[in-house]
Amino acid sequence: MASIQQNIEHITQQIKSFEQKHTRAPGSVQLLAVSKTKPIEAILDAIHSGQCTFGENYVQEGIDKIEYFSTHHADINLVWHFIGPIQSNKTRPIAENFDWVHSIDRAKIAQRLSDQRPEDKEPLQVLIQVNTSNEASKSGIDSQQVLELAAQINALPNLTLRGLMSIPANVSDYQSQLDAFQKLAQLNTQLATLYPSVDTLSMGMSGDMEAAIEAGSTCVRIGTAIFGARDYSTKN
Ligand SMILES: *Cc1c(COP(=O)(O)O)cnc(C)c1O
Repeated sequence: MASIQQNIEHITQQIKSFEQKHTRAPGSVQLLAVSKTKPIEAILDAIHSGQCTFGENYVQEGIDKIEYFSTHHADINLVWHFIGPIQSNKTRPIAENFDWVHSIDRAKIAQRLSDQRPEDKEPLQVLIQVNTSNEASKSGIDSQQVLELAAQINALPNLTLRGLMSIPANVSDYQSQLDAFQKLAQLNTQLATLYPSVDTLSMGMSGDMEAAIEAGSTCVRIGTAIFGARDYSTKN
């Protein structure tokens, strides 16, 4: 099995070659390492390969990791992104510990995160999660509601609106992947003309990274291709 270090080198190389192939600026696509369910040792391996931004889906697990690294490796500057579904009773620990949130899908959550963000921290950098596939089971708001939520977020003092995120339907044909990503990219371009802080498009995972980069992703969220398959048997 390839090591985490080899995987990161491989993906970094793939990102570079997709940037080139699709005439994206070199370095315009950031790699977010999704470390959910993975132990501290795996994150340390990734850090030793030069990775410093990590995505987590579960509040308590993410906070345990953030606290571990701020206690034992305070010299390493890590950036933590919360990318999972948000329950309103869990906003405080997210606001107090994370740097970014990708999964805002309603005004109530945005309001709470802003209210609960500690004054001594930078504003929380946030993305609106959009349901581009219109599947009832997926989280995220409909495209038609994005502008209204964006205006609400933009008015909050402790949040900075940076763009959009989506988890499209799991389809393997390239053109369908590209279509969904291009819709989101168009919406983000529209948003950026209204709000100068908007510069981030979080889309693309292990299975659809190339289409996401072709469509304009600035942040691919990669878990499995870095850390291997996840074992959920210990999660409830
Ligand atoms: C788990 C997860 C990922 C990573 O998915 P992989 O297929 O393992 O690369 C990316 N984004 C979100 C929102 C996730 O929950």
